[in-house]
Amino acid sequence: MFGECHMHVFMNGTDYRRAVMEQREGKCETVVRRNLEAYRRHGVTFVRDGGDHYDASLLARQLAPEYGIDYRTPVFAIHKQGHYGGIVGHGFGDLVEYEALVRDAIAQNADFIKIIVSGIMDFNKAGVLTEASLSSGEIQEMVHIAHEEGMAVMAHANGADAVRSAVLAGVDSLEHGNFMDRDCIQLLAEADTIYVPTVSTIYNLLGDNRFPDREVRELWNRQRDVIAACFEAGVRLALGSDAGAYCVLHGQGIEDEYRAFCLSIGESAKLKVQLMEGEQRIREKFRRK
Ligand SMILES: [Zn+2]
Repeated sequence: MFGECHMHVFMNGTDYRRAVMEQREGKCETVVRRNLEAYRRHGVTFVRDGGDHYDASLLARQLAPEYGIDYRTPVFAIHKQGHYGGIVGHGFGDLVEYEALVRDAIAQNADFIKIIVSGIMDFNKAGVLTEASLSSGEIQEMVHIAHEEGMAVMAHANGADAVRSAVLAGVDSLEHGNFMDRDCIQLLAEADTIYVPTVSTIYNLLGDNRFPDREVRELWNRQRDVIAACFEAGVRLALGSDAGAYCVLHGQGIEDEYRAFCLSIGESAKLKVQLMEGEQRIREKFRRK
C-alpha cells in the first residue's frame, strides 16, 4: 500500500466549518484518533501532513505510533499575510518574520518546512487562480532560508510562474502544480524535486454538485494531461491526495489518487515502481535531521 504524502489531519473531507468547530470545542484528540484509525484501516503506514494552526498534526505525530504510522509534519504551513494559506498555518509580513516562523517550526520539532507561494484554483472557472503568486525573488529567499536551517521544503504552488520559480529555487517537493506548462515539466524532469499533484481534489469532484461539472471536467482533463506528460518526461512523482480537503477522505484519499493516476497514465508495473520511488525519497528527505 502507498503512503499518503499530502493530507491535513484536522479537516474531514466533508465540512470545513465543522472541522473548525471541533477544534474550537477541544475535540482535537477525537478528530486525530478518528483520522489515524482511517489510515490504519486502509493499511497506510506513512503519512505526511501539510499543516494546520491548531497543533493537530503535532498531536497526530505523537499518537501515530499507536496506529503503526510513521507521521511527518511541518507543524504549520507558512504563507505571506494577505495571501492564501491562513486555513493551514501562519503568515509573515517580511522575510525577517518568515525566518522567525521557520525557527518557530524547528523549535516545535517540525520534520520539514511547508510554504505556500500561490493561490488556489477557482473551481467555478477552469484555468483561473484566486490570486497572483509571490515573486520569484521572494520564493527563492524563502526556500533558501529554510534550506540554510537544514530543512526540506514542501511547496504549495499553482500556475506556471509559481511552479517555475519554486522548482528553480530548489523546493524538495512541489504540491498541486495546476496549470503548469511544458517548460515547467521540463524543469521538473531535470530537477531533484518530487511532484505531488493532489489530483483527487479535482477528480473526486466529478459528479458532485458543489461546482459546475463542465469546469471540474475541464480541470480534471488538464491535470490528467499534466500527469501523463510528467510521467513521460521522467518527473519524480508521488501520491498525495490532500485528504481532508472537500470530497477527499482520510485513508480512502490515497486510493482515489492512485486510481486517478491510473486513469491518466494507465496502470503498469513501471508506474507503481516510480510512485514507490517518489514516496521513498519523500520519506528520506522530509524528516528531522
Ligand atoms: Zn494541502
